[in-house]
Amino acid sequence: MKLSVLGCSGSAPGPSAPSSGYLLEADGFLLGMELGNGTLAELQALRDPFDLDALLFSHLHPDHCADFTALTVVRRYHPRPPRDPRVHRLPVHAPGEAPSRFVAAYSPDEADRAVTDLTDVFEFHALAAGTIHIGPFRVDAAKAAHPCEAYSFRIVHDGRSLVFTGDSGPAAALDELAVGADVLLAEASWTHAEDRPPGLHLSGTQAGRLAHAAGVGRLLVTHVPPWTDADAVFAEARAEFAGPAELVVKGGTYEI
Ligand SMILES: [Zn+2]
Ligand SMILES: [Zn+2]
Repeated sequence: MKLSVLGCSGSAPGPSAPSSGYLLEADGFLLGMELGNGTLAELQALRDPFDLDALLFSHLHPDHCADFTALTVVRRYHPRPPRDPRVHRLPVHAPGEAPSRFVAAYSPDEADRAVTDLTDVFEFHALAAGTIHIGPFRVDAAKAAHPCEAYSFRIVHDGRSLVFTGDSGPAAALDELAVGADVLLAEASWTHAEDRPPGLHLSGTQAGRLAHAAGVGRLLVTHVPPWTDADAVFAEARAEFAGPAELVVKGGTYEI
C-alpha cells in the first residue's frame, strides 16, 4: 500500500503546512485518513476529491477533520462530478458523534441544521474498538489516550501493516497494536519533559520508545505543531529507535 501525506502539521496548520491528512492506496482503492485544516487544497493538488472511496477519522479535533466541511461543499455543489455523489455516497468511518459534529461545523445556522444531516452525500459508520474492513484494508482500531473519543489504527493490506497512533499519549493498547508493524506513523507533539500533561500526546522520546519496544520496521514521525522545534522532536525519536526513521513532510509518499 502507498501512503501519501496531505498535511502533517500538529494541532493547527502552519505556514503553507496543512494539518493532519493522509491518503492510503491499494488495489485501486483510495482511503482518506484525517482531513485537517488545509488538506482539501493539497488533496486537489494530487487527486480528484471524487476519487476517494472512503474516509477514516481517528477523532474529531479540528486539526484532523476541519476540511470535511469543504469536502461537503465539493460533493454537494460541484457542477460536473465524475461520479454522482448522491448515488455513490462516501463511506465515513469515524467516532459516533461525527454526524452531529460535522453538521454543526458545516451548517451556518439553526434553520439549516434542522434540514441537513449530510447523509445525502455521506454514509456514516460509527467506530468502536475492534476490527473492520474498508475496501481491501483490514483496520484494527484501539482506543487512544486522548481527551475525547479517539482511536489508533493498525491498517493491514497484503501482509503489510501500517500503525497510525492518531493523537495519543502512551497507552498499553497502542503498545500492543504496534507490535511488529512494518511502518509506525507516530505523532510526536512536543519534546520530552516531566511536566507534560498525561493522556494527550507523545513526545519525540516516547514515539521512539514505542517504535523500539514494538520492533517496527520503520518509524515515520508526524504531527509536530508549528510552534515546536521539529528537529529537536525528531532527534529525540532517533535517539530511542535505531531503525530507519523519517520526519514526514507534506507531499511525501511512502511505500508500506
Ligand atoms: Zn491533533
Ligand atoms: Zn487531537
